[in-house]
Amino acid sequence: MEDAFTFADELGPARIIHVHEPSVGLRGTLVVDNVATGPSIGGLRMAPDVSTEECFRLARAMTLKNAAAGLPHGGGKSVLYGDPGMPREEKERLVRAMACALGDCQDYIFGPDMGTDEGLMACVKAEIGRSVGLPREVGGIPLDEIGATGFGLAHAAEIAAPFCDLELAGARVAVQGFGAVGIHAARFLAERGAVLVAASDSRGATHAPKGLDVAALVEHKRSGKPVSEFPGGAPLERDALIGVECEIFAPAARPDAIREDNVDQLQAKLVVSGANISVTPGAEATLHERGVLNVPDFIANAGGVICASVEYHGGSESQAMATIEEKIRHNTEEVLQRARQRGCTPRDAAVELAVQRVKRAMGYRRWSIF
Ligand code: NAD
Repeated sequence: MEDAFTFADELGPARIIHVHEPSVGLRGTLVVDNVATGPSIGGLRMAPDVSTEECFRLARAMTLKNAAAGLPHGGGKSVLYGDPGMPREEKERLVRAMACALGDCQDYIFGPDMGTDEGLMACVKAEIGRSVGLPREVGGIPLDEIGATGFGLAHAAEIAAPFCDLELAGARVAVQGFGAVGIHAARFLAERGAVLVAASDSRGATHAPKGLDVAALVEHKRSGKPVSEFPGGAPLERDALIGVECEIFAPAARPDAIREDNVDQLQAKLVVSGANISVTPGAEATLHERGVLNVPDFIANAGGVICASVEYHGGSESQAMATIEEKIRHNTEEVLQRARQRGCTPRDAAVELAVQRVKRAMGYRRWSIF
């Protein structure tokens, strides 16, 4: 059993709370990492193999993401031990119990994550009056339906393009993971003149060097068919997508999409990540040496949490889109300028920027922070 202070450093975590209620089989952990910038926002993850360490790492990632995005929110995360495939009624009971057990912890706002969804966030809101990522019926902004993260990704690409001598109009794009994030990223990039040449899902990929019809591919995918069966493209093996000739590569599926063992196949000049931790540190160093520009995940994919923050503060869908556009454009520009001036990787520049913002905010805190 690790000591809770194993993770302690100059930023946090401020609290680690374990909740246990044997009568309903509740076992959960909350890590509130840092709340200098405001009450923490972070998802509730449900899986059988979660841990305090995972919860802490995810909470810290949210501290950096929220600070980098300039949101009035700190970073937190909660994990619930259990099989996410359990019957809905049982799952709802556990999530409601978790919410009630943590109801007093005002500096944490629940959001959806792996194994939870917007319906469960509505249950949390009903129990304790505090959650984000809600269904429209209870005042939520459906972020996957409107494509909040994909929209932000397209803006990050637009700002990053001149930093690697690229014109977005006519640039060829490959999207790994044609799901909620990938579909909208492709759509918004195509609106800016980019050409989608390849896309993949868990079952395979499709490729058309002269360009895929994005609207038709979206319709095909939404009808439940795999992208590899799209009549407008040639089928391709799923993992061969990384070697497709293109200027922009957008990982929007799993972690570690670009690794030491496949980074040399990548043809793109620009990587914009929808998925979290999609490039391993070793591959990131190789990309930097080769002059491939990699916009850090927590800068490029912050559209979802920005949308959640606007929802929490009572804003509308159009305000959410305007805020995503403004913040992602501004932050991408700032991070890439810093990286260029310092000759460091964009990730190092982004972490430095986020930590600086958190520390500045910590300087304003009173001692009686609780
Ligand atoms: P999703 O489930 O809607 O879509 C994921 C897509 O990836 C699916 O089409 C799936 O078939 C495909 N896929 C799975 N494994 C694959 C593989 N090995 N190769 C190629 N394709 C594969 O999920 P999503 O909401 O689009 O999220 C995608 C990623 O982005 C996740 O890692 C998520 O954590 C991250 N993310 C999502 C948001 C958001 O707003 N939804 C915000 C930030 C980060």
